[in-house]
Amino acid sequence: MPPAIMGKSAVFLDRDDTLIENVPYLGDPNKVKLIPGASSAIAELRRSKLPLIIISNQSGVGRGLITKEQVRSVDARMEELLGGGKIFTHYGHCYAAPGDPYDDRRKPSPKMLQEAATTFGLNLKESFMVGNRLSDVQAGQAAGCQTILLNLRVPPEELEASVQIASFTAQDWSSAKDWILEQLTKAK
Ligand SMILES: [Mg+2]
Repeated sequence: MPPAIMGKSAVFLDRDDTLIENVPYLGDPNKVKLIPGASSAIAELRRSKLPLIIISNQSGVGRGLITKEQVRSVDARMEELLGGGKIFTHYGHCYAAPGDPYDDRRKPSPKMLQEAATTFGLNLKESFMVGNRLSDVQAGQAAGCQTILLNLRVPPEELEASVQIASFTAQDWSSAKDWILEQLTKAK
């Protein structure tokens, strides 16, 4: 078993189509389904003691389609399916729809990652962003993080550009998690 990794690194995680299946504007916790491999990868990352932080655009709130409470109920169901307990240190959700005030926090902006770094005293250069969209790797890159494209649910039209930007393209959750833990070992 690897030694516990402490310090200022964190793993930022997209939610929809990275940890759970994307259902547009999901507000029903009964429809939450995990992406294959997410559960065991998150369990292993938790053992490494890295803060796990959700970075997610939830414009359905700004569009008036779902409430913040519904987003929280989906988050709670996701945590339950991932094994329960407090899994995520923080939820960075941007509820704004494009054109709303504060929509500049939406990915691909690095703002939510930067806010979390300030709040939790993180070193962004020693941190990771995992996601399935071009905007995830762009946000992570703009924040100065190492970026992992999880190539399970990448929109085909975004694949090429995303692969070019990403520090690493993982074909499944297990290799994404292995790559993160490997970088941390190297950094020691
Ligand atoms: Mg996503």
